Amino acid sequence: MYSDAQTGPSVPEEVVPFHDAITGVRGAIVLHSTALGPAAGGCRLARYPSDKDAVADALRLAEGMAWKNALADLPLGGGKMVLCAADELDRTALFRVVGRAVEALGGRYVTAEDVGTSVADMDVVAQETQHVAGRTVRPGHAGGDPSPWTALGVLNAMRVAVRHRLDADLSDITVAVQGLGHVGYALCELLYEAGARLLIAEPRSHVAAQAAVRFGATVVNGTRLSDVHADVFAPCALGGVLDAPMVRNLRAKVVCGAANNQLFSPFQAEQLADRGILYAPDFLVNAGGIINVAAEHLGWDESDVRTRIDQIGARLNETLHYAERFGVTAHDAARRIAVQRMAANRVTMAAAA
Ligand code: NAD
Repeated sequence: MYSDAQTGPSVPEEVVPFHDAITGVRGAIVLHSTALGPAAGGCRLARYPSDKDAVADALRLAEGMAWKNALADLPLGGGKMVLCAADELDRTALFRVVGRAVEALGGRYVTAEDVGTSVADMDVVAQETQHVAGRTVRPGHAGGDPSPWTALGVLNAMRVAVRHRLDADLSDITVAVQGLGHVGYALCELLYEAGARLLIAEPRSHVAAQAAVRFGATVVNGTRLSDVHADVFAPCALGGVLDAPMVRNLRAKVVCGAANNQLFSPFQAEQLADRGILYAPDFLVNAGGIINVAAEHLGWDESDVRTRIDQIGARLNETLHYAERFGVTAHDAARRIAVQRMAANRVTMAAAA
């Protein structure tokens, strides 16, 4: 089962139940906010104990997408589709139905790939609707796998966080990377090029061994990485990793990684701050992928993507200064800036109507 741990989200604009009578797959589309544009967020296919758990995950993830898109200054709201995985699936049949469900919302929701779904699945969705990104990349257009872009945004943010907290460069530090999947591996590559030393934890031993050779990384036994001697902890696997025991034992002074919903609960943001650990909010630093998805959907080119991802570091800087000024955690500061942006746009739209 995949689940990102967090506390309950605020009220979404709309929750649309999903049921495919042919494959039996159930789920939901959550439109958390359309204040800044169509609710955008990927389609997740995962195992959940119940439909209720799936909807709860979709609610949290959709709210996170609203914050992420607002902070990235994208003309998009936040949404998410969650599907409960089954053992035997006719994926083509399922994703045709997903495409029709997205189409029925008339452009108020834009989907893309996420955990458990792929570029091939989004190509099937595209047979039914144009409100989909993350498809096979077309020559001359932005698109394709968003993971390298996510890794680049995390690197930019980490550079700023390390300068802010440790007054150091990436070439001076050791980074512990948890999870060497699509994003984590690409991040290791960028960190290696930037001269950082790497500690890695990855359950797929052949991937860990390959990274050890390629990046001169030290493989850590076990996967928690709380007690290793590293300056930065970069969670790039699952959500909810920053729970109370983890934060209590963490030696790193900076947390900056790609995983969504890293905080087990908002309380851990306080706990991290109390321990003097700079936590770079996940929904701010991992926006590179959605920027690439937005570019594909809105017809921007690769240089637009690069320019916007370059701004992630500056945005983290702005957030850290806001946090210091108002005496709140960086997580809270980022959430406030995002919510203020959504509210300001709602007011502008209401005034124009
Ligand atoms: P992925 O599935 O490709 O990689 C996850 C990796 O983590 C795998 O290699 C897996 O073996 C490893 N892993 C699993 N459990 C682990 C554990 N306990 N300790 C260490 N490693 C473990 O996923 P991804 O696309 O690389 O995404 C990673 C995270 O970043 C996810 O939380 C995802 O939601 C988030 N994210 C990804 C993108 C993107 O562009 N792909 C964008 C934003 C956020």
